[in-house]
Amino acid sequence: MHRAIALYSGGLDSLLSIIIVIQQGIEVIAIKFLTGFTSPLKESDLEYARQFGFEIKEINIKEKFIEILKNPAHGYGKNLNPCIDCKILMLKEAKEKLSEFNASFVITGEVLSQRPMSQKREILKLIEKQATLKDLILRPLSAKILPPTKPEIQGVVNRELLYDIYGRTRKPQIDLAKKFGIEKPPQPAGGCLLTDPSFCRRVKDLMQHDELTVENVELLKIGRHFRISEKCKAIVGRDEEENKILLSKGAFIYPSDMKGPVVFLIGQYSAKDIDTAASICAFYSKRKEVVIKLPQEKIKIYDATTKEEIVKYRV
Ligand code: SF4
Repeated sequence: MHRAIALYSGGLDSLLSIIIVIQQGIEVIAIKFLTGFTSPLKESDLEYARQFGFEIKEINIKEKFIEILKNPAHGYGKNLNPCIDCKILMLKEAKEKLSEFNASFVITGEVLSQRPMSQKREILKLIEKQATLKDLILRPLSAKILPPTKPEIQGVVNRELLYDIYGRTRKPQIDLAKKFGIEKPPQPAGGCLLTDPSFCRRVKDLMQHDELTVENVELLKIGRHFRISEKCKAIVGRDEEENKILLSKGAFIYPSDMKGPVVFLIGQYSAKDIDTAASICAFYSKRKEVVIKLPQEKIKIYDATTKEEIVKYRV
């Protein structure tokens, strides 16, 4: 039996592409690449895998992705999404796995001209060239309007059973989902945080202060964020769950009765930064007694920072 590797985002397009290929009797191993900006596998992904008969593997590329994000050779999309370089990275990683998984080609859920930059005809070609996967990337949703790939030429895949979807319309994909019995179709793409402008504002702040690391990106997903000085940033927990996470990371500022947010500092903090963070803690907890546990526990009285300062520091 022939086997293919699929780039699986968890979105509808990648799922449809996998099903189309499976229906031609090809075994598919779907790879969900973990970049730090996309969600990990969900229960629904595993359900689709069971329903349609494919295997899913997660591969961590967070460190490599961060390096790309700092300086993408092909630039950013509308927000901080380095889609062209991201695709090249994922395809290169997939290529590395071809022999390990005994697969002979790669499939993606890309649709010609669906996205203004990364899915133009010439860009698809460029991505293919840079990933050194010439003729080995099959895009089942648009294959009929793209040049034939090696698996089609060799008769492994029947081109006639592939599709000619073009542009931004979603109707053909929704129709296909119905045809394949997908009751609740997932979103078109996998939901990348780098397309969310407010999340990108926080990422930009880390970049500008040379603090973009895998660990700091994880922290962007929780709490309120404040740039309190050039070298220091404060994260304020919004609920018990977030407070627990921040305490486990080493947060040492919190209200003395623990009824309010924990504050975690990133970077190099001065005594002034600690005072500012404690005043922010006083603001959100509406309490003046704040513990500074560094290293021994000291309770100090702080006035809450002003609303104007909160707005000024907010990232
Ligand atoms: S949206 Fe995010 S995950 Fe998708 S290609 Fe662009 S950078 Fe990569």
